Amino acid sequence: MIQQVVVVGSSLAGVRACGGLRAEGFDGDITLIGAEPHLPYDRPPLSKKVLSGEWEPDRIALVRPEELDSLRLQLRLGTPATGLSTTDRLVTLRDGSAVPYDALVIATGAATRRLPNQLEHDSIFELRTLDDSLALRSRIDAGGLRVTIIGAGFIGLEVAATARLLGNDVVVLEGAAAPLVRGLGGEMGLAVTQLHADHGVAIRCGVQVLGIEPAGSGLVVRLGDGDSVVSDLIVVGIGVSPTTQWLEGSGLTLRDGVVCDATLNAGVPGVYAAGDIVRWPNAQFDGEEMRVEHWTNASEQGLAVARNLVAVGRGDQPVAYSSVPFFWSEQYGTRIQFIGRAAGDDDVRVVKGGVSERSFLALYGSKGRLRGALGVAMAKPVMQCRKLLLENMSFDDAIEAAAAF
Ligand SMILES: Cc1cc2nc3c(=O)[nH]c(=O)nc-3n(C[C@H](O)[C@H](O)[C@H](O)COP(=O)(O)OP(=O)(O)OC[C@H]3O[C@@H](n4cnc5c(N)ncnc54)[C@H](O)[C@@H]3O)c2cc1C
Repeated sequence: MIQQVVVVGSSLAGVRACGGLRAEGFDGDITLIGAEPHLPYDRPPLSKKVLSGEWEPDRIALVRPEELDSLRLQLRLGTPATGLSTTDRLVTLRDGSAVPYDALVIATGAATRRLPNQLEHDSIFELRTLDDSLALRSRIDAGGLRVTIIGAGFIGLEVAATARLLGNDVVVLEGAAAPLVRGLGGEMGLAVTQLHADHGVAIRCGVQVLGIEPAGSGLVVRLGDGDSVVSDLIVVGIGVSPTTQWLEGSGLTLRDGVVCDATLNAGVPGVYAAGDIVRWPNAQFDGEEMRVEHWTNASEQGLAVARNLVAVGRGDQPVAYSSVPFFWSEQYGTRIQFIGRAAGDDDVRVVKGGVSERSFLALYGSKGRLRGALGVAMAKPVMQCRKLLLENMSFDDAIEAAAAF
């Protein structure tokens, strides 16, 4: 009998799990534990409308106050979990207290990576939290700064676009041969470079950052080729790592995330995980083990875990979670959406529009099968490709079908 559910991580996956539990009729106690002091908020606007100053933080609440009341949560915010005993069914917190559970949802997401020996300096920023976004905004909103972004992933490029729109001089440094290689593969990553070039932002690829040093009132980034970039402000956007430190010694399998089975169970009865922290076999991609760092995945997995917890509590079987990953980005007002999975050696075909028009739909295929679709300013067609991916369509058939979207 499940009476007490503890959810660790008070962001998207954790909040969706809480909402899902109540929606499934769970009437017991839910304790939501969060490291940040804020009520749950949404992250995508942190690099877009919150950073630009268009939105204030009250626009990004993940739950409205009246919804929060109806969820009947015991909130333990600003108190990170520091340990887990699955034998005693206890989560320990930094304030020394311990919270017992019958069932546990692990939703502690991911945290920004840092450069080796990264200099501590008040002009070097990272971006994961609301506090990070507001601190950065207060520095770049007046424009006129030389801003260097280290890392051309989605968040780095969104910050580059926002900083540029606010009137700063922006340069992006990337170690790989193209931006967004991990998300889009090299060829399409280069197409995004052109969008930035249109707005006067240079993305320098294939450069190795050796380190950051103070220089007068600013900073200098030393590069492997002997060159250097003088900056007033630097944003390090080199990716994230799953927040698993508090789970070390718990006996759970940790390998770039919490390793789960297809139902998102973490290997111990009653312990599930959801969101950026999860590594699980996705049946939609032949059981390929993956960890996905996108909003839709965190939202869906939070709900899936809630359904499974309630099902198991009732004596029913949990259901496997499988999905076609999806993410979006917005840069200079252009919507970039990707559905599926991209790998470096995929065959990529533009089937609608054109790269030079900054509006296109491209399909990704591997071993004769459709693997993904990218839309740049092509919102509807890219979403129509979801059906083709769910059907496991052959690449050739998908090219024909998508051209008609
Ligand atoms: C700036 C930014 C822009 C983004 N834009 C997009 C976008 O446009 N499209 C898209 O698809 N995705 C986007 N994402 C990704 C998306 O926001 C994430 O996939 C999503 O937030 C993951 O949710 P999560 O709940 O799994 O983890 P997180 O959002 O990382 O939340 C985990 C929570 O757990 C807390 N926590 C960590 N450790 C502990 C602990 N020990 N004890 C208690 N609490 C703890 C953290 O403080 C955090 O509040 C963006 C992310 C960022 C940062």
